[in-house]
Amino acid sequence: MAFWINSVVGFGEYILNTKLQHFDLVVIGAGSGGVRSARMAASQGKKVAIIENRYLGGTCVNVGCVPKKMFVYASEYREKVEEAKGFGINSQVNSFHWPTLRNNKTNEISRLNGIYENLLTGPGATIFNGTGSLVDENTVRIQLVEDGKEAGIQDISADSILIATGSWPFKPEVPGAEYAITSNEVFNLDDNDFPKRALVVGAGYIAVEFAGIFNGLGAETTLVCRKGLVLRGFDEDIRAFVQDQMKEKGVNIRAETEIERIEKQADGSLLVFYTNDEQQEVDLVMYATGRRPMTDGLNLEALGIELNSNTTIKVNDFFQTSVPSVYALGDVIGTPQLTPVALAQGMKFLAHMYHGDTVPMHYDNIPTAVFCQPNIGTVGPTEDECTAKGIEFDVYESNFKPLKHTISGMGERTLMKMIVNKANNKVIAVHMVGHDAGETIQGIAVAITAGATKADFDATIGIHPTSAEEFVTMRSPRS
Ligand SMILES: Cc1cc2nc3c(=O)[nH]c(=O)nc-3n(C[C@H](O)[C@H](O)[C@H](O)COP(=O)(O)OP(=O)(O)OC[C@H]3O[C@@H](n4cnc5c(N)ncnc54)[C@H](O)[C@@H]3O)c2cc1C
Repeated sequence: MAFWINSVVGFGEYILNTKLQHFDLVVIGAGSGGVRSARMAASQGKKVAIIENRYLGGTCVNVGCVPKKMFVYASEYREKVEEAKGFGINSQVNSFHWPTLRNNKTNEISRLNGIYENLLTGPGATIFNGTGSLVDENTVRIQLVEDGKEAGIQDISADSILIATGSWPFKPEVPGAEYAITSNEVFNLDDNDFPKRALVVGAGYIAVEFAGIFNGLGAETTLVCRKGLVLRGFDEDIRAFVQDQMKEKGVNIRAETEIERIEKQADGSLLVFYTNDEQQEVDLVMYATGRRPMTDGLNLEALGIELNSNTTIKVNDFFQTSVPSVYALGDVIGTPQLTPVALAQGMKFLAHMYHGDTVPMHYDNIPTAVFCQPNIGTVGPTEDECTAKGIEFDVYESNFKPLKHTISGMGERTLMKMIVNKANNKVIAVHMVGHDAGETIQGIAVAITAGATKADFDATIGIHPTSAEEFVTMRSPRS
């Protein structure tokens, strides 16, 4: 199929090509979902183009999961040095050199960007550097970029178009919010901009994680949230426990607090005015108050692509939008904003498109972690969700001081909670706050996906001495 075009796009801008290059699949956005879909389609023999305007690997690799976890690791060392004293090892943290952490992180991310490029070009996908938008149901316009400069416009055509443009941090309209940063900027602060006093706004997992990062790296840290408890949507016991642990580690939590305005002072510091008339001076404010779907400039309205009420793109069970040749997946469709979800959607999309799979993706039992200190790992519904569904259940719980901290002198505790369906003895949820909880819960998620019962857990031999062995030795339900 060949499309021909010869038109003026705007003042002084001519479409570069006269004969449109045609692809089986054009993907807009080379993040978690886009790269997975493009490279797997290309490796299955499809002619694929992928358009990216910022960074290969998307949010996760560049300003999300990966650099964040590196910062979480960095933030744990100060406490480890303290812990070591109880083991007879005396040492001290003399300084934290922000540019070293930032630059080492950036070097590793650059290496990963290269790997992503190879993952795409290896199986034959064509990468376009630029911003994609829809012209019609089979044509995508690319505003090309070369060395950071606009480099003309190119249209390409495709049997199918996949929008995988992700999401973007949202800042509320508070006077002075322009002085605050978001997760987009926090990974690349200038040499002298790592704060002595940091204020994080929000109660979601990114806010909680960054409060832990700043605190661990030695900044005097405040977390400001509108409601009483952080991490809405997580199990109530877990939320309360994490909040206590954060306070124990020195994070100042201003719950039920809102910011009225932020003023920049002559010395560069920020004065935060709260609605309760209090004020606080800090060096950095980071908003982590949610992410909005990235649909700017895609031209969805012109094609009549329907949106959900929260402005995410509306799709059916197989990621098809209201325009049949246009698909969308990942953060932009409003499903849980997690990399493994976007990856799984990419695989489902291809299985349906090219291999006749008719089983919709399910979103039950998505395990997830929050890399606060200590970590949360969780899979399955909360206790409140089980109650709301009318499930009769038992709760097994263990709240203890991990072996290490019996002599480290630290106050850190671990909480484990298991929810068991009384009707069939199946373990329906496990929630944990404790060291490396994500590592523990990933394995337990397999057991839950496989339908393990409490009896299966009980019949499993523990690994001793670990914290995880508690999950196979919990004998009596909570009364
Ligand atoms: C600070 C932070 C920490 C996170 N931590 C975790 C974690 O620990 N675990 C986890 O599972 N998830 C985490 N996430 C979420 C995860 O990063 C996202 O869910 C995931 O990246 C979504 O993938 P996606 O493909 O939908 O979009 P993205 O990865 O955001 O990719 C979208 C891509 O599209 C590009 N793009 C947008 N518009 C256009 C256009 N018009 N033309 C061309 N290109 C375009 C963007 O530049 C971007 O590269 C985190 C996110 C953040 C912000």
